[in-house]
Amino acid sequence: MALFKGSQKRLEILSKLVLLIVTCVLSFFLISLGGRVLYDIDHWSVAPVMKDFRSVEALNKSNLEEEKINKKLAKIDVQIERSSIFRNRARRKYSSEKRSFNNWIRARKTIGSSTEDEVIRKRASKLDKIKGVEDRWQDKINALKGKRNRIKKTKNSVYYLRNEIKNQDRSKYSEAYKKFKVKVFIYRLLFVLPILILAIIAFIKLRKSKLKSLVWAYIIFALYSFFWGLLPYMPNYGGYIRYSVGILLTILIGIFVIKRLKDYTEKKKLELEQSMDERVKSVKEDVAVKSYKAHCCPSCEKDFLMNNWQPKTKLIKEILEDEAPDFCQHCGLTLFNKCEKCGNRKFAHFPFCSSCGARESL
Ligand SMILES: [Zn+2]
Ligand SMILES: [Zn+2]
Repeated sequence: MALFKGSQKRLEILSKLVLLIVTCVLSFFLISLGGRVLYDIDHWSVAPVMKDFRSVEALNKSNLEEEKINKKLAKIDVQIERSSIFRNRARRKYSSEKRSFNNWIRARKTIGSSTEDEVIRKRASKLDKIKGVEDRWQDKINALKGKRNRIKKTKNSVYYLRNEIKNQDRSKYSEAYKKFKVKVFIYRLLFVLPILILAIIAFIKLRKSKLKSLVWAYIIFALYSFFWGLLPYMPNYGGYIRYSVGILLTILIGIFVIKRLKDYTEKKKLELEQSMDERVKSVKEDVAVKSYKAHCCPSCEKDFLMNNWQPKTKLIKEILEDEAPDFCQHCGLTLFNKCEKCGNRKFAHFPFCSSCGARESL
């Protein structure tokens, strides 16, 4: 191991880094593979298309009907227009005739002739005839407009019916689309659920094993599959399912954390019930190093430096060795003692004396 000569620590850091990279790379490949499988799963069933739900026959019929009605309307419009021209012509004629008649009557009165009753009657009846023509055209126009209104009503009902048909088609389509989404979700669930169950088992049993880098890669993959591959495809049902799953997950996580905490306190309690010798023996070297650095008791894990002040001129090592108590104030465990060989004060849980190298005999 020429590369790591003289440094156990460097080897440790490097191997941790390599394992971290292994975790990342492995989870990347797992996620890519899982994504590929999920993509294929989505294509097991074909998404419905709106086109397939259109009631073509009924819609075509309705279109034809509308076309016919439009033709009828156009025809009536032409008739109304033509009749209006005739009526206007009659109206103009009547008003000009009326004007000339009135002038004539006025002239006749001034001249004073009174023997022309017959002429007056004739002219008046001619005037009435012209008025009658205008009225007839007007009647015709009114009748045509009435007919037009009736046809318009029919057209509206055709419109209404067609909208009904379209709405029905749309709701059939959305129904089918909902079913399709549920199907996709179930297929995805069939794929993701076993992965999740395995991940939970791996998390509980193997997360601290020698293969933990691989296990964590798998757990990351399972989390990704769950949050990106399954959750977004969950049918909504007005949020019921999503919120329920959220509540369930939160409760499960809560239970897990509470249980862990309880297990930990119980373990600690059991440890504290052991005899002092057993407790001292059960402190492992890495725990001893950590607790020395953090000035915590290796058994009850409470801080044994009661005052937190740390003068900058004094090294933590000096503080520890000069001021730390011999025994833990919280559980009574021996913290510092004197070396049997050289008599120097030292942390009791290191395997060798740092002053003379004698093996710890505690
Ligand atoms: Zn303690
Ligand atoms: Zn010593």
